Amino acid sequence: MLYLSNDDPDLAKLVSDEENRLETTLNLIAAENHSPQSILEIMGSVFNTKTIEGYPGKRFHSGCIHADKVENLAITRGKSLFKAEYINVQPHSGTSANLAVYFSVLKTGDRVLSMSLPHGGHLSHGHKASITSKCFDFSHYKVNPETEMIDYDQVREIAHFVKPRMIVAGASSYPRLIDYEKMSQIAREVSAFFLADMAHLAGLVAAKLIPSPIPHCDFVTFTCYKTMMGGRGGVILCKEIFGKKIDKAVFPGCQGTSAVNLIAAKALIFKLAREEKFVSIQKKTIQNARIMAGALMEKGYHIISGGTDNHQVLIDLTSKGISGKSAEDCLESAGIILNRNVVPQDENTPGKVSGIRLGSGAVSARGMGEPQIRKIIELMDMAMMNQTKKAVVKEVKNRVLKLCREFPVNKSV
Ligand SMILES: *Cc1c(COP(=O)(O)O)cnc(C)c1O
Repeated sequence: MLYLSNDDPDLAKLVSDEENRLETTLNLIAAENHSPQSILEIMGSVFNTKTIEGYPGKRFHSGCIHADKVENLAITRGKSLFKAEYINVQPHSGTSANLAVYFSVLKTGDRVLSMSLPHGGHLSHGHKASITSKCFDFSHYKVNPETEMIDYDQVREIAHFVKPRMIVAGASSYPRLIDYEKMSQIAREVSAFFLADMAHLAGLVAAKLIPSPIPHCDFVTFTCYKTMMGGRGGVILCKEIFGKKIDKAVFPGCQGTSAVNLIAAKALIFKLAREEKFVSIQKKTIQNARIMAGALMEKGYHIISGGTDNHQVLIDLTSKGISGKSAEDCLESAGIILNRNVVPQDENTPGKVSGIRLGSGAVSARGMGEPQIRKIIELMDMAMMNQTKKAVVKEVKNRVLKLCREFPVNKSV
């Protein structure tokens, strides 16, 4: 960071502090991952300079010869990686990708059926605080209180009652596979469009380790920075027939210029995702999440849905007598970084909540496997059960640090 140190030593220091924080703590945030250094390089490249509006070959500014090649590369690679008929690589984020899908085929006020946020859904799936709920009329399905999994009969019942124009599958905190075929069947029964938001799952789908929603959906959205291990930003995949509508809804519908440096990072991760090392990290990610869930259950923790099929483990801490917020805070002071999370039927206040969410992506990207994961769960339990004992929390922190030093953050995939 040669130039940055000169222009702004304060910011340069914050960058190196953040590098140090990532090296010396365990990242269990399900919505994060360590990107290869080449992703950071391309995001910081001169493609930041280029202003693009429109699409390759149909731009509103000149000088797009290389930007067009970058976007075409992202398009070709992304379509082929996910076996999609059509792709738009311009969305700034997962939320803008979802907005563009809604606006491509819906009219304001149209009904949409999606998963309730406290049961796993996302803000952009019609939460009352999100603009999505102000533009469209959302209804929500929930998980079954006993199995804590999606109840497809309930989805069908609500769908037939509400008659939505669109059904959304996909979640921010749901550790189980989603039966996209069943959801698409329900969508067909009520003549609704079907969107799957695989923001969290894209890396696992790219590595072909969990079923892909793409063959069953009209639209699929995702972000590149969660299990996908890429840069920031979102992507839309869709059936060819919706391609023109999606392009118009993204630009000029929901966005202005897109970021060529981020589009280039998308092209890069679509290439890297085909490499053996990426696939083996994704395999490890799934194995490690299972090991986490198993080890926690052995210690008497209530794991939502009784296990996991992806990179997430959701814990309801109610029976342990601690809140999600206090667990999050105490673990952070011990060098274990994760987030508090609402759980189905949460009875705590929104600030405190009853659960925490673990993701296995970032520790798997560092190369950690079963012995390390078991140790991490030991250390988490030790810290959470001894929150008021400063010496214990400090001891956990020392052991976390030792583990981190043994597994430095990888610079390449
Ligand atoms: C993380 C996530 C998004 C991404 O939203 P951003 O706008 O990139 O923050 C969208 N949908 C789901 C289900 C997510 O989990």
